[in-house]
Amino acid sequence: MAQMYVNGQWADALSGEAHEVNNPANGSLVDTAPMAGKEDVQAAVRAAHLAFPAWADTSPDDRAALLRKGIQAVEANAKEITALLTAEQGKPLFEASGELHHFLHGMEFYAGLSSKIRGSQVPLPPALGKHAYGLVVKRPLGVCVGIVPWNFPLTLMGTKVGPALIAGNPIIIKPARTTPLATLKIIGLLNEAGLPPGVLQCLTGSGSSVGESLICDPAVRRVALTGSSETGRRVMQLAGPDFKRITLELGGSDPMIVCPDADVKKAVSGAVVGRYWNAGQQCLAVKRLYLFEEVYDEFMDGLMQKVGNYRVGEGSTKPEKPFIRMGPLHTAAQREEIESQLADAVEKGANVLIGGKRPEDSELAQGHYFEPAIVVDIPEDSKLVTEEVFGPVLPVWKVGSLDEAIQKANNSPWGLGSSIWTQNMAWANRAIREIEAGVTWVNQIHYGYDELPFGGTKASGIGHEHGPEAVEYYLEHKGAVFGGLDRE
Ligand code: NAD
Repeated sequence: MAQMYVNGQWADALSGEAHEVNNPANGSLVDTAPMAGKEDVQAAVRAAHLAFPAWADTSPDDRAALLRKGIQAVEANAKEITALLTAEQGKPLFEASGELHHFLHGMEFYAGLSSKIRGSQVPLPPALGKHAYGLVVKRPLGVCVGIVPWNFPLTLMGTKVGPALIAGNPIIIKPARTTPLATLKIIGLLNEAGLPPGVLQCLTGSGSSVGESLICDPAVRRVALTGSSETGRRVMQLAGPDFKRITLELGGSDPMIVCPDADVKKAVSGAVVGRYWNAGQQCLAVKRLYLFEEVYDEFMDGLMQKVGNYRVGEGSTKPEKPFIRMGPLHTAAQREEIESQLADAVEKGANVLIGGKRPEDSELAQGHYFEPAIVVDIPEDSKLVTEEVFGPVLPVWKVGSLDEAIQKANNSPWGLGSSIWTQNMAWANRAIREIEAGVTWVNQIHYGYDELPFGGTKASGIGHEHGPEAVEYYLEHKGAVFGGLDRE
């Protein structure tokens, strides 16, 4: 049985309760994990609170050195970690390995930033004191909590752990109930590299119980959630009364616009990776595709061919070339949701060009598999437009102008990512200015760089992760004034 990491030690839940973690590819038991309760939350928050002053006083170089030692230990255990991630999450090994690499790159980025956090000096008007000046001093906040979803358990843990630790805060990670195992392995390795007890902890269990208890604990000052917009609303409600700092990285329904002058081949690859990577279970995913009439036929030919090359299957083996392996959806509920969204569109007149059903292969019957789909003729009021589609279904529309494309792109409650594929820089600039989204990629797949701040607008959330900007959300900006310097 896997254990949690509390106050520098592996631990069971104090209640002794545990839950199963099952493999989405075949339903088999991967391991069990503790079901933390209120008393575990209290113990972890107390340990973090006690660890805070000394960690805040640790020099930036020492913090970075500890992180780097941990990063090396994680790298040395990459094989075991990626196998665990594939078993608990369902993504194929090459995708699990890509995720771990992204996690390590992000952690290295923050280790490098540790000694580069800057405040500022501000000249002040002389009315209240000649030569007075102000300082903006940056101070860590205190106990932080990072709540992580199941689609990218490692990278989205790293986007919280890295900035929290280099800013001088302790952090408690709460992974999704269904994906705690690779996370626990990494948290253990980072701790064994020498982090003081209480600085980095991990509690496992359900969001409504352990997640809510963490948010409501009075000693917790900062909550970072990556999850659905619905969970974001709940986190805001809970954190609001005590004015806790929050960042919310929530759902999305990214539009992709392909213009008449686009490099169609590149754009097709962008759409395929953007929609079907991680079996379509990505926040940043191409969830609505708008093709100009002029490129529609050529694009659709290329798209159909590529999607036809996908084979669904268990992710721990290598796919036979030239096929691309896609793993199962993460849970049965996830598959049912996609099926119901697709059925709603078909009922309203949409046509499925390829895929969109469970595979017939009886060997796959125990997994949550779903064949990647392309859908056309979708009415704007169908769930494929009004809801987030978190699976391998790509809805495609024809558009006649940039005005129409941007208007359709903005017809969504979300505003996470977006892309435009064109050589026309004036059009690209218009898309950047007018599309309501946290990021617009131009001729580039939807990808979250560690170097660049990333966050959504509208129902996609509040605040940023990634980049140096993320660190600021873990720091308090305090003003200080030096006055009275006019007397000798
Ligand atoms: P979810 O909101 O159900 O769960 C996310 C995390 O929140 C889990 O750890 C869960 O246990 C916890 N949680 C759930 N209810 C809670 C509560 N009441 N209080 C505290 N914690 C609670 O989301 P999910 O299904 O795991 O993940 C998919 C969603 O995440 C999608 O909407 C996706 O778009 C979004 N997502 C967003 C980003 C981004 O960067 N914007 C990245 C990845 C995923």
